[in-house]
Amino acid sequence: MSFINSQIHLVSRPTGEPGLDNFKQMDVAVPELLDGQVLVRNHYLSLDPYMRGRMNEGKSYAQPQPLNQVMLGGTVGEVVASKNAAFSVGDQVVGMGGWQHFFIVDGGQRGVLQKVDATHIPLSAFLGAVGMPGVTAWYGLVKIINPQAGETVVVSAASGAVGSVVGQLAKARGAQVVGLAGGAEKCRYVVETLGFDACVDYKQHADVKSLSAALKIACPNGIDGYFENVGGTILDAVMSRANAFSRVAMCGMISGYNGEPIPMSAPQLILINRMKFEGFIVTEHMDVWPEALKELGALVATGRLKFRESVSEGLASAPEAFLGLLKGRNFGKQLVKLV
Ligand code: NDP
Repeated sequence: MSFINSQIHLVSRPTGEPGLDNFKQMDVAVPELLDGQVLVRNHYLSLDPYMRGRMNEGKSYAQPQPLNQVMLGGTVGEVVASKNAAFSVGDQVVGMGGWQHFFIVDGGQRGVLQKVDATHIPLSAFLGAVGMPGVTAWYGLVKIINPQAGETVVVSAASGAVGSVVGQLAKARGAQVVGLAGGAEKCRYVVETLGFDACVDYKQHADVKSLSAALKIACPNGIDGYFENVGGTILDAVMSRANAFSRVAMCGMISGYNGEPIPMSAPQLILINRMKFEGFIVTEHMDVWPEALKELGALVATGRLKFRESVSEGLASAPEAFLGLLKGRNFGKQLVKLV
């Protein structure tokens, strides 16, 4: 059977905010499979903030996205042809399939394609709560913040793919959990559906002083652990309420992804409060993935871990949905549905 594959390529690098003109959709024929290869049809693409960093040429922890090639990214889908004994037609798989309908992968390469069991867990969740964002939440919370019962943990971008899992895992460990999110609707969801103790709408606070005052009310015992997804004013306000020996998991700083400066106004608080800051990249900690996925999978399968998705329809919608993610238009894990 021959397939035509629609793909989205990065065709230029943005300066500042990316735009639709940085992307181009094109059709190519799917080549014949060679021995050992597997052909996968993507059902969902994952859109993630890290993709913005990869659109730049500069040096970072990840290689830049090459120009005029399909956008890289995580996918879930189904095997539609196989010349590899380890994969059969119909297998559901997670991999790095990119922004396209089909991809071919060498099934023998370690870790590039994983079979998943979607009997009790929706397939799309393997890109969210039971995938890379979930493990990110698990790593930063468990390995860096390590909350003790009764401590206060704060997480920014709290309604999102990572933040929503951080808060629920922290609650399950007996912490007081406070989220920061943009807008009343997201904050209501964080408290009423996800079960956080409180949520502060940072958009209601124009400066550090005002946000700090709101955090004082939400966190009367100060802050022992902070899961950082945003940076800037939010980090400054959290630091102003940090307790002695508090821990900060430096996961992301989305407020600076388009090149905006993100100064820290009072770094002396790190010393005064003997704070620990630790940055991490989840893909550098593959050793913890099985343990984290086991816990996350069990929680999702039994309905104890809630998650929400923003699903845009069709490959052509991916660039617009990605630009929206960088502006907070998503509400939960941002996906593109292809099938
Ligand atoms: P989300 O689903 O949380 O979506 C991003 C959210 O960030 C938006 O919905 C928005 O929420 C918030 N946001 C966007 N711009 C701003 C801004 N200028 N100021 C404040 N908030 C903003 O994304 P993920 O859960 O996938 O990712 C969360 C963070 O985790 C990101 O920083 C990402 O880069 C990081 N990450 C790091 C990994 C690692 O290995 N270190 C791995 C995976 C993710 P709101 O409307 O509430 O403002």
